[in-house]
Amino acid sequence: MTVKIDRELCIRCTGCVAVCPVGALDYQGNRIVVDPKKCTDCNICAKFCPMHALSVPGKPIKD
Ligand code: SF4
Ligand code: SF4
Repeated sequence: MTVKIDRELCIRCTGCVAVCPVGALDYQGNRIVVDPKKCTDCNICAKFCPMHALSVPGKPIKD
């Protein structure tokens, strides 16, 4: 499992790249990409994203 990115919603603020504790997110070629080998499904980026463009399957965006 890994975080899903809805690129229609993403406004490319790049904040999620900074909040990911394991460096699984990156900004490449004008879009956010995730390295599924690094992602631990911690859900931090999904809770952070102001556009709700990120989601971890089975985990709510809000507590
Ligand atoms: S925090 Fe959300 S809106 Fe900002 S770059 Fe990441 S996915 Fe896109
Ligand atoms: S779920 Fe956690 S580990 Fe995966 S990309 Fe988001 S912040 Fe990084």
